[in-house]
This record gives sequence, structure tokens and C-alpha cells, in this order.
Amino acid sequence: MRHSRQRELILDEVRSGRLDHPTALEVHDAVRERLPRISLGTVYRNLRQLVETGELKAVAADGALRVDPRLEPHAHFVCGRCGRLSDIDVDLAELAGAVRLPGGHEVAAVELLLTGRCARCAPAETTPDPHE
Ligand SMILES: [Zn+2]
Ligand SMILES: [Zn+2]
Repeated sequence: MRHSRQRELILDEVRSGRLDHPTALEVHDAVRERLPRISLGTVYRNLRQLVETGELKAVAADGALRVDPRLEPHAHFVCGRCGRLSDIDVDLAELAGAVRLPGGHEVAAVELLLTGRCARCAPAETTPDPHE
């Protein structure tokens, strides 16, 4: 029972909206408030299981496992400067339909990770000044 309680607390924390596509380390920091003795390894294992059971989605962005409580298909944008990962609403089903692969392969789903600079990190000169 103890193990499923840990899992519930971890899932709770990820779904709380306080964390944004958190890594195991960030989830660990957050759940330690309620489970002071939980190890990072345990958090990591539980996150993996939650991804396997489909309760969370894994986002492969910068090598680290990041989890996402939002299960419907959506794209992600990662800022190469500050590392912030944001949700982008793109019609992935439409995109999947638009991709034509040679050799008879059939596209069923698209996972999209866009990279660049976020609005806060973009160089100032590329942002038009509305006063000019
Ligand atoms: Zn940024
Ligand atoms: Zn997301």
C-alpha cells in the first residue's frame, strides 16, 4: 500500500499545475515536502511506471526524462537559452495526415518538439518596436 501511496502523491504533484513538464529531480523536490524520506530513484521509478501505464506522458527534450500530465496530443517548444519547455497548440493530426512517406509507410502519430528562443530570450532587435 505504501508504494501506491507514493505513486499517488507523485501523480498528484505533477497534476497540480505547480510544476511545468518537470524532471524527476523537480518532482522529487516537490514531493519531499510531503514525503521527506523519498529517494530520487523512487521518484524516477514511479514516474517511469506512470508513463508506462499511460497516466503521464514522457517528453524527450534535453536528454532528461520530463513528464507531462496533459495526455492529448500537443507539440512542445523548448528554448535553447533558458531551457523553458512550453506547450504549443498545433493540429498534430492534420500534420500527420500531411506527411507522405516513401515506401508505403503509414503515419499514425506525430511528436513535435520545436526549438529556438522563447519570447523572453529572443534578441531584442528581432522584436519590432511598436513605437516606431
Ligand atoms: Zn528562453
Ligand atoms: Zn506538454
